[in-house]
Amino acid sequence: MQTRIEVGILGATGMVGQHFIKFLQGHPWFDLKWLGASDRSAGKKYKDAMTWHLPGSVPATVADLIVEDSKPGNAPRLLFSAMDASVATEIERAFAAAGHFVVSNSKNHRMEADVPLLVPEINADHLKLVPAQEARGWKGRIVTNPNCSTIGLTMGLGPLKQFGITRVIVTTMQAISGAGYPGVASMDIVGNVIPFIGGEEEKMQAETQKILGEFRGDHIEPLAAKVSAHCNRVAVVDGHTETVSVEFSSKPSEQDLRRAIVQFAGVPQERKLPSAPPQPVIYLDEGNRPQPRKDAERERGMAAFVGRLRPCPALDWKFVVLSHNTIRGAAGAAVLNAELMLSEGMFD
Ligand code: NAP
Repeated sequence: MQTRIEVGILGATGMVGQHFIKFLQGHPWFDLKWLGASDRSAGKKYKDAMTWHLPGSVPATVADLIVEDSKPGNAPRLLFSAMDASVATEIERAFAAAGHFVVSNSKNHRMEADVPLLVPEINADHLKLVPAQEARGWKGRIVTNPNCSTIGLTMGLGPLKQFGITRVIVTTMQAISGAGYPGVASMDIVGNVIPFIGGEEEKMQAETQKILGEFRGDHIEPLAAKVSAHCNRVAVVDGHTETVSVEFSSKPSEQDLRRAIVQFAGVPQERKLPSAPPQPVIYLDEGNRPQPRKDAERERGMAAFVGRLRPCPALDWKFVVLSHNTIRGAAGAAVLNAELMLSEGMFD
């Protein structure tokens, strides 16, 4: 489509950073040239700065790159961020101020009024918020993707927004990889369910309203639906499964809902962005699907899988949705955001 551009990763040594490295291998537009982490890792070859947690070994393209300290200087203009949330606020802002486009996974800037919280199939127009960041005096910009549990919920609800969503109750069964590495102790999670993930329910509720909200010139008007989340950690490695009950103002039929799901597509599909799944939300007819082990890795981990759509005696309809938490819920989501930004000419 255009000339390749150089990119870097902040937080490259962490779990999500490794997913970025893997996801960017062979990318048709982006050349990974720069890796940043803390001063504990800076100055070391990448292969010596971390333990590789993903299948296979450290990709040869990055094994000998020297990890840099996370300070603006020689980094490429486009940076993906997978930094620890305790440090992401100041470091991402410093890079944005210095002229970098920071496409972040961290929670820190998601809910700020001038920062898009993107799911490109649903709210690509929220990128129009970005010029408002000029008021911060930055030469660069920050764009974010949602929490790994919010992404599945919003991809399940996105096709149904047209029917007037008024109330949502969601219960998550979240994989242990969502807690990073080493995550939850095996003594806590094997043969067990942990019915608490700190801050997760509040994030899911607020992020869903922002993502499904409307761009109104200089701000996002959140979706006026009530969203109630119950978040649980379960002994699954990858893939967050969520059961969702929804109330609609327009009382759609099952056929209306199914049609909306299978026909759903957005800007990434229209523009054939390299990481866009051809069909972002896939309906599975089998009565016992989706399942994380069977479905999470399909479509490169970039699609959401919906099943078991049926009437809900409490609200109107209920269904199950599954998405890959470290790909569509983290690295893959940010890469798709950057592809959308490139396709909008934002890096020209
Ligand atoms: P992680 O494995 O703990 O990695 C954290 C990264 O931050 C490492 O590269 C670390 O570098 C770097 N870092 C720590 N302190 C730093 C400092 N003072 N300056 C610069 N870099 C520093 O965490 P993770 O699981 O990959 O998560 C990364 C981010 O993504 C978090 O904000 C998390 O909430 C978010 N996220 C995670 C998931 C998931 O499924 N795990 C999903 C969505 C979003 P060193 O190795 O040098 O310490």
